[in-house]
Amino acid sequence: MESADNLRYSSISILHLKLPTCSCKPGDSLFVFIMVKNMTNSCFKQYNRMEHLVDHMRTSFHSVHEPTCGVCKKHCRSYESLREHLIGPLPKQECKSLFNIRGCRFCLAILDSPYALRVHQDRCQLSGVNYGILAHMANLGLRDGLTIDNGYSRGSQVVALACKTVGGGSDRSLDLCARVCIIDENENIIFHSYVKPPIPVTSYRYETTGIRPEHLRDALPLRQIQRRIQDFLCNGEPMWKIRSPKGGKARILVGHGLDHDLDKMQVEYPPVMIRLFAYRDTAKYPPLMKTSKLSNSLKYLTQTYLGYDIQNGIQDPYEDCVATMRLYLRMRRQVHRRQDSLLASDPQNRNNFSSWRQGELERMSPEEMLAISRSDYYCWCLDSA
Ligand SMILES: [Zn+2]
Ligand SMILES: [Zn+2]
Ligand SMILES: [Zn+2]
Ligand SMILES: [Zn+2]
Repeated sequence: MESADNLRYSSISILHLKLPTCSCKPGDSLFVFIMVKNMTNSCFKQYNRMEHLVDHMRTSFHSVHEPTCGVCKKHCRSYESLREHLIGPLPKQECKSLFNIRGCRFCLAILDSPYALRVHQDRCQLSGVNYGILAHMANLGLRDGLTIDNGYSRGSQVVALACKTVGGGSDRSLDLCARVCIIDENENIIFHSYVKPPIPVTSYRYETTGIRPEHLRDALPLRQIQRRIQDFLCNGEPMWKIRSPKGGKARILVGHGLDHDLDKMQVEYPPVMIRLFAYRDTAKYPPLMKTSKLSNSLKYLTQTYLGYDIQNGIQDPYEDCVATMRLYLRMRRQVHRRQDSLLASDPQNRNNFSSWRQGELERMSPEEMLAISRSDYYCWCLDSA
């Protein structure tokens, strides 16, 4: 009698070891053996009751697109939480020690050997834009940028935009767009120009902008620049067509804090595109945000993920464009397994669990639940398809 109970107990324990595991929090193996009833296999969070695991899976939006630890396969909400998991202040020791030997401190990938790491990291760390060339190109851009050459730029479907502002209003706190830059995927300047704000400038913010009154005196007025940029982004497509779900031929716009930049330029970029298709904002992209869900600065992201310094002294919007484009491309090049249905891009069904009954979910294994779970943001790797 007693031995039969023991047998049943141990078989249940073994069964449970193979059963529910999520991977957002690695479990202690001893604890797992004694206690574990239900664990998810994506975040390793452990639950005593299956219904709690189901609740967790309903709201966690685990997916193949989440940053994942190369050692223990734990899923993280952002690169910052993966960084905490691998580097500290409270790292998982096994993952940390392997990461110290073979982990890239920029993209957080685990390489096959210390040698492979050295080769990889040399390519993974980028260097800043050359200021001599930058000044030269900026001058060219200033002259040529007055008209966007659509012939030259027709092919560039993805463009990055950044602007620099001066101060307006009696307290100088009003941000007025005074310089704008647009580049293509290869960091070529498509447009680089000073902008004449519609109201008087009360602070040129020279220490960071390098802008003097004479730069803006003969510059194009904001309204003309805004029209040109809007036409360029629409790529010859009428506005009503862009408002349709597929976004037509409109370009993909990359930037950091784009709503702020577009607002300052009074560019109307259709809300439907902002939400779903053509707006790639490094300030709002969940994997690049803080664990607290606040935005990181572009300076921080560039330092941490690209390995170089920006925005020292006088700032050129070209430098911001390059940094955001490089961050975007790095995110787009992530290799994630294809999922058959992309519910993340479907606003009607963001949570794939809504179509299942509680009882059905409770009978599923964590692996099955993970397989039907979809991310709640549009992963940029999907742009490469
Ligand atoms: Zn989880
Ligand atoms: Zn992805
Ligand atoms: Zn790990
Ligand atoms: Zn790397």
